[in-house]
Amino acid sequence: MSDFVSSIMEQVKAKNPAQPEFHQAVMEVVESLEVVIDRHPEYRNAKILERIIEPERVIMFRVPWLNDQGEVQVNRGFRIEMNSALGPYKGGLRFHPSVNLGILKFLAFEQVFKNSLTTLPMGGGKGGSDFDPKGKSDNEVMKFCQSFMTELCRHIGPDTDVPAGDIGVGGREIGFMFGQYKRVRNEFTGVLTGKGLNWGGSLIRPEATGYGAVYFAQEMLATRNETLEGKTCLVSGSGNVAQYTVEKLLDLGAKSVTLSDSSGYIYDPDGIDRNKLAWVMELKNVRRGRISEYAEQFKNATYYPLDATMGYNPLWDHKADCAFPSATQNEINQQDAKNLVGKGVYVVSEGANMPTVPEGVEVFLEKGILYGPGKAANAGGVAVSGLEMSQNSLRLGWTREEVDNRLQGIMKSIHQAAFEAAERFGTPGNYVNGANIAGFIKVADTMMDQGIV
Ligand code: NDP
Repeated sequence: MSDFVSSIMEQVKAKNPAQPEFHQAVMEVVESLEVVIDRHPEYRNAKILERIIEPERVIMFRVPWLNDQGEVQVNRGFRIEMNSALGPYKGGLRFHPSVNLGILKFLAFEQVFKNSLTTLPMGGGKGGSDFDPKGKSDNEVMKFCQSFMTELCRHIGPDTDVPAGDIGVGGREIGFMFGQYKRVRNEFTGVLTGKGLNWGGSLIRPEATGYGAVYFAQEMLATRNETLEGKTCLVSGSGNVAQYTVEKLLDLGAKSVTLSDSSGYIYDPDGIDRNKLAWVMELKNVRRGRISEYAEQFKNATYYPLDATMGYNPLWDHKADCAFPSATQNEINQQDAKNLVGKGVYVVSEGANMPTVPEGVEVFLEKGILYGPGKAANAGGVAVSGLEMSQNSLRLGWTREEVDNRLQGIMKSIHQAAFEAAERFGTPGNYVNGANIAGFIKVADTMMDQGIV
């Protein structure tokens, strides 16, 4: 580690103890940016890096609610307003028992660069709660969402901060929160994205992150004059991102053979076709069941329960060409990365945020595979959220084709920006450096323009 990187990291660790995911995310970016700071002493003098790692505002609050038995429940709510140089804070809300300040700060930090890459005017933020929607009734989810929004609504607004969904927050939760915002504030505005189509949502928003990750893979393959046609793909997760990744892969003639949830994964050597995918969507979005049921329904498939003692995840140890991690952070460790490459995978497009540990990223970069980090590869979700904001401001709704064309155009330009920045700063083919640098320069220049704020 160079003196520059270690001095920044010392500060980050001293000021933000016990936030390992935040340290990990900052470290990855700072390593990429060293060469940029060397070429731009003005960024160093203006302490752009020191400012960019400090959230503009952190809001943390109590979320009390009553369960169906009438018992009092208490959760913790958060919103990290990380950087507003390019526009209103924008980023999802995550409801998951693992949520804490450090995880949300890592996500908010990554969001700043990702949003910059989309070319749309959006700052970066992230929020959520340690509330676990699993096993809760619709009524309990509604009560929680209403209590959460009763506090959050003081801090957000269509020109201030516009949250969206993330893990555990889909159309149902966005609906409950939008209803409560409208009731308390007496305003019908585009304060959240991922809304229902009848009340200001955009076509293609649910599909956008998964579709975008596949479009990004397509762009990376095009640099080698290849396509996704006929490729075998490993997909993790079985939520929003995973489902639409599988759908777009089907459209483009590729075959997905795995899906997972936090209990385990299924391997289906025949591939997940459209009928099976529709069944998964019903299982996960309506019945809210477990992926193990897939292997009971489709006899050629096998279910493997999660075994944390193994030291690696066998999902990543099947023969394939491409991998689309679409569940959560740090789901690919160093051994998994080695297994992937060993089994023939040479395209990794990250639908999830930071799914690969740094030692795993090193394996991908050393082997020279096509590796699209989440910051670039999963930016399609927030890009279409940005398009939803534009449609709300215009009070118009665009067609499916219009939004999908714009999404494809944005994913192409993100790929181009990352590809070119990697080359310009001396590491051709390294999309990690490329995405960090291209995302950073725009925010840094803007912060220079706007003074010390
Ligand atoms: P969902 O809640 O719809 O699905 C998440 C999936 O990942 C579920 O299958 C869930 O299983 C699994 N999962 C969650 N946490 C863990 C864990 N700790 N270990 C193993 N599996 C886990 O979320 P999304 O599909 O929206 O999000 C998936 C990833 O994509 C996240 O990293 C998110 O930050 C990222 N992302 C999402 C965007 C969006 O637009 N939704 C945009 C950009 C990135 P289970 O049901 O058992 O918990």
